[in-house]
This record gives sequence, structure tokens and C-alpha cells, in this order.
Amino acid sequence: MMRRRVLITIPVFLLCLGLWFALGQSGKISQWLGGGGPHQSGYNLVPILCFHDVNGSGPYSVTIEEFRNYLDILKKENIRIVPLKEVMQHQKDNRLMDQPTMAITVDDDFENIARVAAPILREYDFPATFFVYTKDINTHPHGGMAWEDLNRLIAEGFEVQNHSHTHTAFHEPRVGESQEHFAARVHQEVVVSRQILEKHLPNHKIWAFAYPMGYYSPYLEEKLREAGYDLILTVDAAPVDVTSKFTGIMDRYTIQKEYVADPMAMFYKQIAYARKKYQSAEVAQVEEGPQHGLK
Ligand SMILES: [Zn+2]
Repeated sequence: MMRRRVLITIPVFLLCLGLWFALGQSGKISQWLGGGGPHQSGYNLVPILCFHDVNGSGPYSVTIEEFRNYLDILKKENIRIVPLKEVMQHQKDNRLMDQPTMAITVDDDFENIARVAAPILREYDFPATFFVYTKDINTHPHGGMAWEDLNRLIAEGFEVQNHSHTHTAFHEPRVGESQEHFAARVHQEVVVSRQILEKHLPNHKIWAFAYPMGYYSPYLEEKLREAGYDLILTVDAAPVDVTSKFTGIMDRYTIQKEYVADPMAMFYKQIAYARKKYQSAEVAQVEEGPQHGLK
């Protein structure tokens, strides 16, 4: 009896071992485990850029020449620019980029976005996502964008996504604000703004939300998740690592010139992230040498 059980166990064990080996080779096991994934070689860090006004004024605006210069550098450095959705999909699939990759986003409602930035991006054949807030569309006292502009951008293949209704701070209650009033305000910024966008941009799904001015809180995050957004964008200045777990939140780099000592050095650092070849944690540790014991 004992002998027969051993005889059955051995082939079953060998079959399992063979299956494990075959799946391991195809990378399936590590993919299921959500570990390093089936990575051979490629790039895992994807910086997402956040521009604001182009040819306007303010600390976050760039001139047309500066904007072109940024795009020229991306071309010269062979950085592939992909739509935001593609970065998200790679992270969901735990799949490396086969060449250095970045994504471009542009925030707010400046008229120059539709009239200056978009035609230049088209010239370079760069996709982009525009995050707009709904309060000022069509009614901005200084011009701004109109619904026709946004529908045209979508028809041209750009993405338009949500940046709230009023572009104010709504991550926490104002001093003296009741919880009910605060909840209603967040609802307007998170839910009503999307209804407005979807009403005026027919057949265009709103699936991403960028925090205005980068303010967030656990409460606001919870409300955005409840509202069903696929992706939330911060401006926390870190590249997306497509080998890390998809959380529904991605960081971006604000392009700015007044609050940083050397904007170009910062930009080249982002490019260096995109160009850095993927190294699994084990390989990186071996190359760095022993972490302790030697001084
Ligand atoms: Zn903004």
C-alpha cells in the first residue's frame, strides 16, 4: 500500500515540477504572483509631465520657444510619448516599456492650450491629455477654452479629462464649514463636474481626475474611488514604475521655472529616469554589493 502511494506520488510530483518550470519560463508564475513579472529587458520608469499655460504668464507657464525646446529634447533623446492610458495599461499588466517612454499632460483652461499647445503637439505627433475644470469653460472672463475647442481636441485624438469644477482646494473642510456643506462641495467638484464634461463632450468617457494644485486627502481619494475614476493624478514629482502594483494613482512632474533652481536639470533628470534600464531588485542588490558588514 505504502509502496503504491509512493509510485503514484513520484510521477505527479514530476508533472507538477515540469508544469512549474514551463510556466516559469513563460513568466506566467511571477506575473500571477505580481512580482518582478516576465521581464527580460526594457524600461520600467515612466515620468508623466504636467504643463500649464503655453505663451502665457505665471510661474507655471512656458513660452512657445521653451515649449518647443522641451519637445525637441524629447525627440532628440528618442523618448517615445504615449497616451496616459497606455502607461496605465502597462502598469496593470506589469509589463515593461520596450523603449524610454514618457507621457504628456496639460492642466487648466487657458485658451493657449487649445490654440497654441495642441497645434504644436500635433506637429510633433505627440499624444497628450488635457485636464480641464468646468466652471470657466465658455464663461472665462479672459478667453479660456470653449466646448468647441475641447470637442475639436478630442476629434484630433487628444484626451480631455477632469480637473474639478472650480479649481479650488476641496481636500478638507474650510474653517467653520459643516461636514454636510463640505460633502456637497466635494460632490460638485468630483461628480457634477464629470456630468458637465460628459454632457458637453458627447461619447467621451471621463475616467481620470487630476487634483487641482496637487491638494489631496484620504477623504477626497475615497470620494474619487467611489465615483469610479480609473486613475487619479498627483503632482508629487515621481516617475511611474510599471513594475509596481497598480493603485489607481500616478504621480506627475510639474514643468515650472520659478520655484526650481534649474528647470532644465530637472527635466534631464526625468529623461534619465525614462532611459534607465530595468533591473530586478535582486540584480540591483548584487550590483550594489553587500549592504552591511563591510566598511
Ligand atoms: Zn490646475
